Amino acid sequence: MRILLISPGKDEDYAKRMGLAFKLPPLGITTVAGLTKPGIDIRLLDEQVEAIDFNDGADIVGISMMTAAAPRVYRLAEEFRRRGAKVVLGGPHASAVPEEAAQHCDAVVVGEAEGSWPRLIEDFEKGKLEKIYANAEKPSLAGLPEPRRDLYKKKAYLIKNTFQTTRGCPYACSFCSVSGVFGEQYRSKPVEDVVRSIEITKARFAGFIDDNICGNKKYSKELFKALIPLHVGWIGQASVNAAEDLELLQLAKKSGCVGLFMGFETLSQGSMGEIGKSQNKIAAFKDNIKRLHDHGIIVLGAFVFGFDSDDVDVFKRTVDFIYDAKLDLAQFTNLTPLPGTQLHKKLAAENRIIDTDWRHYDTESVVFKPAQMTPDQLWNGTGWAWNNFYSRGNILRRMMGMKFDIIRLGMYVVPLLIMNFGFKKALDFDNVVKNTFFKDPGIRNKD
Ligand code: SF4
Repeated sequence: MRILLISPGKDEDYAKRMGLAFKLPPLGITTVAGLTKPGIDIRLLDEQVEAIDFNDGADIVGISMMTAAAPRVYRLAEEFRRRGAKVVLGGPHASAVPEEAAQHCDAVVVGEAEGSWPRLIEDFEKGKLEKIYANAEKPSLAGLPEPRRDLYKKKAYLIKNTFQTTRGCPYACSFCSVSGVFGEQYRSKPVEDVVRSIEITKARFAGFIDDNICGNKKYSKELFKALIPLHVGWIGQASVNAAEDLELLQLAKKSGCVGLFMGFETLSQGSMGEIGKSQNKIAAFKDNIKRLHDHGIIVLGAFVFGFDSDDVDVFKRTVDFIYDAKLDLAQFTNLTPLPGTQLHKKLAAENRIIDTDWRHYDTESVVFKPAQMTPDQLWNGTGWAWNNFYSRGNILRRMMGMKFDIIRLGMYVVPLLIMNFGFKKALDFDNVVKNTFFKDPGIRNKD
């Protein structure tokens, strides 16, 4: 039997747009490959790094999909099925709307693949595939087989080894699909399993893809202590309130943490209440960033625009704050009502969803009516924030304004320049190739 597992892009331009700095190996399909019994010929295809080959000759094609990729994935599925393969869809979008996905494939894996995927393979061998595979309970993360990292395309990634230590989230932010897919209970891998995985890969640098590696501080501290003797550098994703715990920060630093992606989301207390992210204390943001910097940790802050409390001034206010707080890197997205989220239910009930084409549920497009501005103002304002923050002049000004000691200078300037100009490259691609020049939404430009 031959299986092809695909991590698709949202469009054909995906590989060109993604600079090397942003390409992470797709741990999801690698984990599924690890759950496959021995003796099966299995191949991974990551569309960030290679094009899809319809002549692969696979008996089963498994595709993991995010919402914005769904329409394209359905076309890919149709083509593979036309050539005789059985197509299995999984991932966040298939888990949110399994009935829709089921119309385009032979089977859907809802939620996590542990349990479901081995059962699906057995059923395929018996010639009796079911339409939907779902676990009755969320799987334990103890003793899981190693993801098949040996199947990655060599030299395709800057960060070659990614790991997941936890799944689920106890918070239920209205726009987020994480607790819908992985559950509201925070589950963690035994620390010794994580250490074993890192030792097996001989990784010198690790990317932790957890949605919040500091979601359970007791566990995080144990994990970080266990990482210290391994001498790995690492990046990950954590909630902003992690910075309030000095012991946690010290251990993170000692364990090799060099950068964290953090969801600041908004500077408006009204908006924070709207999404239900009460753990984010806006008044403490600036201090949190300083504390992270004091521990030598680079911060990539994520901000979302389009909440009901946001008016047209929100873009400039946010960018000004980021300059003032000396945030190293920033990401700006438009609020997106992903299927299965509370936000989607609310906006649908209020009749405010103006675009139902999943391709536009990419956190860049505007698919709903904002409360205090037009969809165009929201789209232009977010584009303005990106272009302002990552203009060549502002990148250099920000870098020159950073205080580095001589050790940090060597360690951080090059990665920061790569990341800054990586974002700029992606922006230029959109601006030029997609012809998306943002109109000035009436905001003073810093350039
Ligand atoms: S945004 Fe972060 S904290 Fe909120 S539900 Fe999603 S993963 Fe949890």
